[in-house]
Amino acid sequence: MPWRKKWIDPEEYEDKEELGRVLSKRAYEVWVSEVMLQQTRVSTVIPYFNNWVEKWPTVQDLAEANHDDVLSVWKGLGYYSRATRLHEGAKAMIAKSAGASCALPSGATELQEFPGIGRYTAGAVSSIAFGEAEPVLDGNVARVLSRQLGLYMDVKDKKATDVLWDMADRLIKHASNFPETRTSEVPGLWNQALMELGSTLCTPRPRCDECPIQSTCRTYSEGKALSDKRQSVVVVPDIEDACSLCASLDTEDLVAVSEDATNDEPPRANKKRKAATKQTNTISQYFSVGTPKSNVETEDEEEDLDSPPVEDSRKRKLPAPTGESKSISTYCSLFPKKVAKKKAAEEDCVRPAKGLLASLWQFPQNTLTASHKTPQQRKTSAQQYISDLDAGAADMSKARFVASFPPLVHVFSHLRLTMHTYQYRIDADKAGDIELTCKGPPTRKWVDSKAMDNETLSTGMRKCWDLVSESL
Ligand code: SF4
Repeated sequence: MPWRKKWIDPEEYEDKEELGRVLSKRAYEVWVSEVMLQQTRVSTVIPYFNNWVEKWPTVQDLAEANHDDVLSVWKGLGYYSRATRLHEGAKAMIAKSAGASCALPSGATELQEFPGIGRYTAGAVSSIAFGEAEPVLDGNVARVLSRQLGLYMDVKDKKATDVLWDMADRLIKHASNFPETRTSEVPGLWNQALMELGSTLCTPRPRCDECPIQSTCRTYSEGKALSDKRQSVVVVPDIEDACSLCASLDTEDLVAVSEDATNDEPPRANKKRKAATKQTNTISQYFSVGTPKSNVETEDEEEDLDSPPVEDSRKRKLPAPTGESKSISTYCSLFPKKVAKKKAAEEDCVRPAKGLLASLWQFPQNTLTASHKTPQQRKTSAQQYISDLDAGAADMSKARFVASFPPLVHVFSHLRLTMHTYQYRIDADKAGDIELTCKGPPTRKWVDSKAMDNETLSTGMRKCWDLVSESL
């Protein structure tokens, strides 16, 4: 991976100006790579990363870039708002650094003051580039830590997230000998190792046999204990005796393991429980030797008269075995707790919803309502919308309907859009009657159909255009 480089040791530089420049470039590259890697595979990112740093080698270069160029270089990587945030962040950094040799601050807290830099990205830049003992927590790291600690929780839940951040912070500070050692190569290596483990071995279906930290893994040892005593009901000494953090994991879940063991998807647990607390979530808050559940009240989310009491739920039965290591890995795959994904909201529109994809050009669009169920009602709505459109000097009330196209469905993470595409024609008396760019807001522009390939459109918009262009 081109962004993986040796840590820059400040001790090796006598010239502090030079050190600042080198660190600034390194931190910028880590930042760009981390943003590109969000929701995107490494193999996809590599050519984009190389192209990006060749075009804008420093944060200063990016800050001075034209925004359309930035979007154009990002074209094809998806989630375009990431490119906009990088650009905005670079401009803010240059403005704030006031000519300092290193434009990026080294601390995670300071980094989070810039647009688009959250706690994860700040931790990655601070630890990998600057060697600060700052934690990271993404989905991969959360999965590894949940299993290492045997935490049976939904990692998207705020309480779980707080505890995992706290854990990640304690671990990296301990591993880096902080505060005695202020900076070193250890934090970056540590964080990258955790990320790598989560993306290669400790995946939703873990390969525990190959895992280098198997000996410290709580979930692995639980799975092994269960495997050793399979077919019988056993009571596993449980950290939950002194901890009120985890949801219960009972025999129903383990039946699901044996049924799902051959599927690719990890099994899901059935129980619904939640713990509620008003206090700050840290690891130590949940432990109280000899006085379990002293800080947190646990309650069932919904009344379930069939559910066993908590004490009974700690009796764990093994699924029908298919080999010890498979049983253990299958048990581990139950962690962290899975919750059913919310069904994506559904929306019908003449074209995709406004504001979802900032900075990309979109065709004029209108969200449909419940009164637009039939094709005729949708067509009437589209005609009305086009007629009222402010598109510069063009009189859109004279727009003539040409064609409608089969609906296109496009699924975003939180939205399922059904797009109904219509083609209209407007004739100008003279070429100069139509302004090519209308300042808005919203800004609009007329584009020659031959130039459409070069415009930055979202994937959904591109599909709409492909439908229309094939008929031209
Ligand atoms: S032993 Fe298995 S579950 Fe535990 S950290 Fe390693 S791969 Fe993950």
